[in-house]
Amino acid sequence: MPSTNIILMGPPGSGKGTQAVRIAQRYHVPIISTGDILRATARSGSALGLELRAIMASGGLVSDGMMVDLVRERLQRSDATAGFILDGFPRTVGQAGALAEMLGGRPVVAVVLEVPDQDLEARLDSRRICLKCRAVYHSGTRLGSEAETCARCGVALIKRDDDNLEVIRTRLQTYHRDTEPVLAYYAERGALVTIDGSPAPDAVTRAIIRAIDARRQVFLPDPGAPRPHASKNVRRS
Ligand code: AMP
Repeated sequence: MPSTNIILMGPPGSGKGTQAVRIAQRYHVPIISTGDILRATARSGSALGLELRAIMASGGLVSDGMMVDLVRERLQRSDATAGFILDGFPRTVGQAGALAEMLGGRPVVAVVLEVPDQDLEARLDSRRICLKCRAVYHSGTRLGSEAETCARCGVALIKRDDDNLEVIRTRLQTYHRDTEPVLAYYAERGALVTIDGSPAPDAVTRAIIRAIDARRQVFLPDPGAPRPHASKNVRRS
């Protein structure tokens, strides 16, 4: 059975969370957001949770070993057999290699949303999120203390602890240093699609869907062809 395996990449604030919800609806696959999973563990208050909270508050990365175990376990669940959207993973070349091993030759498409750093700082600093439906809002006030609620769910919006300018800058540096090489990793394998993340969300969604649909043949088995190695399993367009 072909599976639709989408990796959504891009710097913090580039719109991955917003787009993941829309793309998941279109392809009927679950969203696996490593940031969401880590934040849920951090909220639990366990010793591990406190450790994760400190790492996330610093703008650095959780270890590859822990992330790979977490994603391996999640991908084994039955809802991920027909495909998935990975949001926030892989963030290092080591994680990308481990993912290729986990998938054992199943092809992926890596979609990267590009947005200039200065726009990202403003977007993240004003960002409010709904923990229930993942909706993202942008406050004009930058205060974060006003009672803002989700238009869909009615629950109070939150400002993430790491959405403050100092940590935002570190997260962007971490992205350029550790995660941009992952783009090269997928580009070398013909699996990278670059999308301009600056236009309005609807236009970005349309561009992503067009790009994925144009490459959907990579998810279909090629009858008669020998089973290719993971890194060569995505055809160049
Ligand atoms: P995100 O919600 O994707 O912005 O992730 C929030 C924070 O969780 C990041 O700044 C990292 O500290 C941590 N994190 C999420 N995903 C990963 C990953 N794949 N590898 C390492 N750290 C991660």
